[in-house]
Amino acid sequence: MNSPDAAATDDLGSAVQPRVGTDRASLPVSTLPGRAAADVGPGADLRVGPGRLLRAATTQTPASGATHGCADSGVEPGEQAIDRLAAGLRRLPVVVISGAGLSTESGIPAYRDRHGRWQQPAPIQHRDFLTAASVRQRYWARSFVGWPRIGLASPAAGHRVLRGMEQLGIVSTVITQNVDGLHQKAGSRRVIELHGGIGRVLCLACGQHFARAAVQQWLLAANPGVASAATRAAADGDAEVTDPFVSAFRVPGCPDCGGALKPDVVFFGDSVPRDRLAAATQAIDAAQALLVVGSSLMVYSGFRLADYAHRQGKPVLAINRGVTRADHFLELKIDGECGAVLELLALAMQRPAQGAPPAPAGGRW
Ligand SMILES: [Zn+2]
Repeated sequence: MNSPDAAATDDLGSAVQPRVGTDRASLPVSTLPGRAAADVGPGADLRVGPGRLLRAATTQTPASGATHGCADSGVEPGEQAIDRLAAGLRRLPVVVISGAGLSTESGIPAYRDRHGRWQQPAPIQHRDFLTAASVRQRYWARSFVGWPRIGLASPAAGHRVLRGMEQLGIVSTVITQNVDGLHQKAGSRRVIELHGGIGRVLCLACGQHFARAAVQQWLLAANPGVASAATRAAADGDAEVTDPFVSAFRVPGCPDCGGALKPDVVFFGDSVPRDRLAAATQAIDAAQALLVVGSSLMVYSGFRLADYAHRQGKPVLAINRGVTRADHFLELKIDGECGAVLELLALAMQRPAQGAPPAPAGGRW
């Protein structure tokens, strides 16, 4: 397969839904009721939050270990699925691949619906960004409006659970397709940003890096009077910035050399740097299992890492709403909200079990 690497990183300036995590999701796991997963009888729907129905589809026949198509398999009670996922993750260490579904609870939009279809405006292409000043102008105008919500976003429950799993030695590395920096904000230390980070900006001419927060001030200084219009647009959530706004927007260059500025992210049509990809595959080599969280793996750079793990004979498990490109070789997939499922997973892994990892010090994740 020779699909180009591509990242869903181009339109962070729009379509940001004010969907910050619920009060429940913001609680540390240790404060959740212990019966969260335990009192649900076989066959019952496991509702882990308002309107959330946790369903699980299994791909493995326990007796034979044979793998079947995930999409064709049955639905299991949530408790069993969580316990099976916990059992699968006791093959330590585990590498995580995370995607947009993990950050929706931080108010950052997902790019694909549950069928894996793109649901945002047409993505910017890498080549167009490099060659067309008008494309850069539109990007920066939208990014200027959308930045505050990205820059000020807080980690959600799922980010915190994964941070806890790293501290316990369960998760060795998080390979993230997200560019929002929320794993690092949550305290995860071993993070590979497959598609870069929106918090950094680089000069295409001299190669210097700048903090995105500083660039926001440069954009504001270059466009006096636009702050109120930008605030109104941002308040509309998914409002597109208007064409007059874009055409009037002035894009400053590098303060040292005047070169064009680009966010330090991998746009569609660009490639993941080789050293970054090598670090990701090395992390998988050293792991015993791979857990996909909140990603449909429709972007090839993420899919090929899951495929690589599978070809190495390592079990690939997933928590995701809707289909994934790897459904046909997943050992287990839980269809649900990432944060809620990860919290239940954390509880399950704290229950005594043969071969279980040690309980976290102080009971906190
Ligand atoms: Zn420069």
